[in-house]
Amino acid sequence: MTGIERSRTVAVIGAGTMGQGIAQVALLAGHHVLLYDAAPGRAGTGVGEVTARVERLVAKGRLDHAEAAAATARIGAAAELAELSGAGLVIEAVVEDVTAKQELFRALEAVVPADCLLATNTSSLSVTELGAVLRHPDRFLGLHFFNPAPLLPLVEVVSGAATAPAAADRAVETVLGWGKTPVRCADTPGFIVNRIARPFYAEAFAVLEERGADPATIDAVLRESGGFRMGPFELTDLIGQDVNEAVTRSVWESFFRSPKFLPSLAQRRLVQSGRLGRKSGSGWYAHGPGEPAPEPHTAAPEEAPAEVTVVGDLGPAAALVELMEEAGVKVERVGTGGPYIQLPGEGQLVLADGKTSVEFTDVVYFDLALDYRGAGRIALSASEDTGERTLAEAVGLFQKLGKKVSVIGDVPGMIVARTVAMLIDLAADAVAKGAASRADIDTAMRLGVNYPLGPGEWHDRLGPDWAYDLLHHLDERCPGGRYAPSLALFRLGYAGDGTAEAEEEGDGA
Ligand code: NAD
Repeated sequence: MTGIERSRTVAVIGAGTMGQGIAQVALLAGHHVLLYDAAPGRAGTGVGEVTARVERLVAKGRLDHAEAAAATARIGAAAELAELSGAGLVIEAVVEDVTAKQELFRALEAVVPADCLLATNTSSLSVTELGAVLRHPDRFLGLHFFNPAPLLPLVEVVSGAATAPAAADRAVETVLGWGKTPVRCADTPGFIVNRIARPFYAEAFAVLEERGADPATIDAVLRESGGFRMGPFELTDLIGQDVNEAVTRSVWESFFRSPKFLPSLAQRRLVQSGRLGRKSGSGWYAHGPGEPAPEPHTAAPEEAPAEVTVVGDLGPAAALVELMEEAGVKVERVGTGGPYIQLPGEGQLVLADGKTSVEFTDVVYFDLALDYRGAGRIALSASEDTGERTLAEAVGLFQKLGKKVSVIGDVPGMIVARTVAMLIDLAADAVAKGAASRADIDTAMRLGVNYPLGPGEWHDRLGPDWAYDLLHHLDERCPGGRYAPSLALFRLGYAGDGTAEAEEEGDGA
């Protein structure tokens, strides 16, 4: 199977943000490009903008003169749809409205040749529904580019219920030929990225709503411990709270209001108040000129214990043993029981597991880190019953390892751990339901939203039962279905050598 030949014209409908970006990509891949827009003069303006951007690439030294001149000679504006009669591929990027898109595709079908692929760049509408008005929906599919299209490599290739496998293959080959990274997915709400990414925002907002920590602290923990490039609060301020909330609500509605995708009341109020983020001057944060960057809560220095006992295998936190020894803390090991770090004053340090500190006499929870050696900050949580000495020893121990410490409220599953567990669960569920392959989900999350690891890679690193057990505990403490681990995650617990906890407790079948 080959992609659309370079000699074929690519038509882009809608000369806005996405249309211009996609036109630039197709143009620089060597196609003739025709831009069409319903607003008078807009296609011509779009052609001018794309031409200017290509010329800027020359100024930046990324493209030579001759190539740029050849490319800009290949783009033109179409005044009518009839001019697209020779197109080999049409990519639509008009207003996000079912009726407008359906009308457009109906009209296009009457114009383009029989072998022309028809694609929509919709972010949130059903590809199946958009294609349902066509006489030949088998050649219709989603090509979901990310903004800015010329820079971001990921393209979701979405097959609707009627899309022919050969059409999807052709689109994948085309996208590859354009130097982009295609991932295949079925027509399910949010496709891959906008579906799987929901908990990254939702869990942070939930911790805020539980008054577990403030936005600056949650952002800092996800960045410096979780390895995410930006925290959810700063990122949604950049995206726009209205835009981010609209995606969340669309996915939630499309999954028939599944509690897994529940929107946030705190974000709702933010949108209602007009605090939309950077574009309105304030969101979770104030963005006025000279506004100081908000500081995360960082614990004052405490004395580290001279020795600790590591009970059992710390699993995902096993690297701490070496780090403690390197830092000069004497570590005694006890093979069975735990896992936890026994502090000298009788308290215990436990990796976040979905339970709360208040359930135990003297337990401080520590959060998951992508890499304990590289992490700059670790979150700890304690309850009002936790001994002062225990908390001080826990803080001092991580400070001795060179970490900043943020003490947060008694939040079950903490911050990074519950976020990662939810990402793993949603991804496992999506794979099991045929929405996309595990490898494509990992690729999509790394390239589409810059996650340090894909959910499948995280699952491998953390162990087959880790996310299941954490969510099982969280679900017991926060019932309602949001944290109920999926059947797919339950099965994965058995796929390795795992023993999902439900079995131990006798309620699995
Ligand atoms: P935009 O508002 O910047 O541009 C839309 C353009 O389409 C406008 O120029 C408008 O005049 C034109 N248009 C509207 N109705 C039309 C019609 N019936 N026929 C022809 N032209 C018409 O919008 P955008 O941000 O470029 O988004 C376009 C599509 O891409 C939407 O479906 C959106 O969901 C999707 N998308 C957007 C982003 C993003 O970050 N902006 C990312 C991925 C996908």
